[in-house]
Amino acid sequence: MAAQEPSPPSSMESNKPGFPKKILGNKLEDKHLCNCCHNILRRPFQAQCGHRFCSYCFNRTVSNGPQKCSACIKEDIFEDPTSILKQGCAFPDNAVRRELRTCQLFVSMKVALGKAALKSTS
Ligand SMILES: [Zn+2]
Ligand SMILES: [Zn+2]
Repeated sequence: MAAQEPSPPSSMESNKPGFPKKILGNKLEDKHLCNCCHNILRRPFQAQCGHRFCSYCFNRTVSNGPQKCSACIKEDIFEDPTSILKQGCAFPDNAVRRELRTCQLFVSMKVALGKAALKSTS
């Protein structure tokens, strides 16, 4: 039986759009950006067409049914059906997620500092 990893506290994994781009500064690469909110990916998902979205952004985009990928249209590489975004057709991009971990840690540190300043108990 495979050992199950305990799931970490997921406050940074909550359903929100991406992180502000300034966090990564000049280390920022296109692949780190969400094609929907144009911020740094939070819980990166890669669609069939290869574009990446935050989990939140992807779910929001497809919540009303399949959508054409606006990034594909913009880059003029739209192709049916690959460029159609729909539920269940995007997969967690763990490689990018790992790369962004440092950035997420940095954000959580800032959030923690902010909370301490507010003396929040939550
Ligand atoms: Zn996003
Ligand atoms: Zn696309």
